[in-house]
Amino acid sequence: MIVMKFGGTSVGNAGAIRRVCTIIQSRLPQNPVVVTSAVGGVTNKLVKLAKMAGEGQKKQALQFMQEIHSLHQAIAGELGIIDDQEFIEVLHQIEITLHQSLERIFNHGALTDELYDGVISIGELYTANMLPVVLQKMEMPSTFADARKMLRTDDHFSSARPLISESKLLVKNELVPIVKRGIIPVTQGFVGGTAKGQTTTLGRGGSDYSATLIGAMLEVEIVEIWSDVDGVLTADPSLVPEAHRIRYMSYSEAAELAYFGAKVLHPATLAPAVENDMTVKVFNSMNPDFDGTAISQHQPDGRKIDGRVKSIAYKEGLTVITVSSSRMLMAYGFMSQLFSIFDKYETSVDLVTTSEVTVSLTIDNTKNISQIMEELSTFAVAKVENKKAIVCLVGEGLKRTKGVPGQIFGLLQDTHIYLISQGASEINLSFVIDEADLPKVIVRLHDYFFSGELDASIFC
Ligand code: ADP
Ligand code: ASP
Ligand code: MG
Repeated sequence: MIVMKFGGTSVGNAGAIRRVCTIIQSRLPQNPVVVTSAVGGVTNKLVKLAKMAGEGQKKQALQFMQEIHSLHQAIAGELGIIDDQEFIEVLHQIEITLHQSLERIFNHGALTDELYDGVISIGELYTANMLPVVLQKMEMPSTFADARKMLRTDDHFSSARPLISESKLLVKNELVPIVKRGIIPVTQGFVGGTAKGQTTTLGRGGSDYSATLIGAMLEVEIVEIWSDVDGVLTADPSLVPEAHRIRYMSYSEAAELAYFGAKVLHPATLAPAVENDMTVKVFNSMNPDFDGTAISQHQPDGRKIDGRVKSIAYKEGLTVITVSSSRMLMAYGFMSQLFSIFDKYETSVDLVTTSEVTVSLTIDNTKNISQIMEELSTFAVAKVENKKAIVCLVGEGLKRTKGVPGQIFGLLQDTHIYLISQGASEINLSFVIDEADLPKVIVRLHDYFFSGELDASIFC
């Protein structure tokens, strides 16, 4: 068995969906299990819809709901499946589900996290029901398998955590018999359900995570992530169009990149792969014959590539908080007091640096910033700076490689650098700059580390 996950652009229109079905056909001997995202852009539309409903804009919300439904009808029309009686009924049921989710928001008078998940999960319900019909039309037996019933999560709505052992049983019981009968199951990425039957989502971009979770539960060796890029690249192609494809990456390299903003993989994607020794392959659905990127513990030729910058990631929209207190000097307990505040407000901290009397740290979720600042001010002087970005260079063995920090900071002499972190991980060097400097910094670093002749066994 293999798991194949298709992202939003891969199922973005009728042509793309047909291409995806041909890709699935090419994997039939490996018994594919398919995980799909919503049509590209639809989850954003559903977020807008949920907010509209939460603000009581009933008429506009119902009209916008109809637009979203029509968009899927139009794709189904182009795919030639709109006349399929069974599918018409399925589409109608999805419309009813969406309508009911909105009615619940209207009746409640406000948007809760649970009601929000009920709406934003619907994009995947459309695609996961559409793909099997197209596959069947191409003479591949296929069926929808509902992630809300298999991927059991807690009720931390909009960033739900999977409950692994319960889910494993449910996923195996549901999917293995289907695959054994020679049928291709198609399920929703991004979506799960609680024991009480409430719909949950795993966080934006979470379909990648669904794929490796399901892969691990089915004990597959390979999970394929099909996206709109040729693989994991040496930098975000929207900033560096000439970025190179990386043939192989270690789990840690890919995990750091994902964590520090390389959108091609959701930050949690690699954890199930590491635990179960699965290879994650990233492919381009527009370019299916390309090799893509293979992410595993070891490079297939057994070589260990050390001390080389493999890729540059960045994360925008960060806030730096600087906390100073003379009580910190020679005192223990200060750090735990500090971090307990971030814990209390469920705000995760990305980067931390500390001096004798000052701690600087970055956060990207500012939902509870005013309460955090208020509590900090009871024992320290705290300052907030917005519009910052982390830049992160990743490569196995970077920590042990002499000269890399010197090269980087030599190149950035004209750039204000707020925090620097190296050494916490073997493979990552990160620093914080003004968001406005980001394009310049990424391009300059990429030019330096990736121009000239590159090792063809790693980059192409
Ligand atoms: P999907 O809809 O297939 O899940 P995403 O939009 O979530 O696709 O992720 C793919 C996008 O990630 C690419 O289009 C690219 O712009 C962006 N990206 C950022 N950094 C990288 C990187 N290092 N390598 C590849 N893609 C990257
Ligand atoms: N459709 C969801 C999103 O846009 C999940 C995903 O694409 O991975 O966030
Ligand atoms: Mg994605």
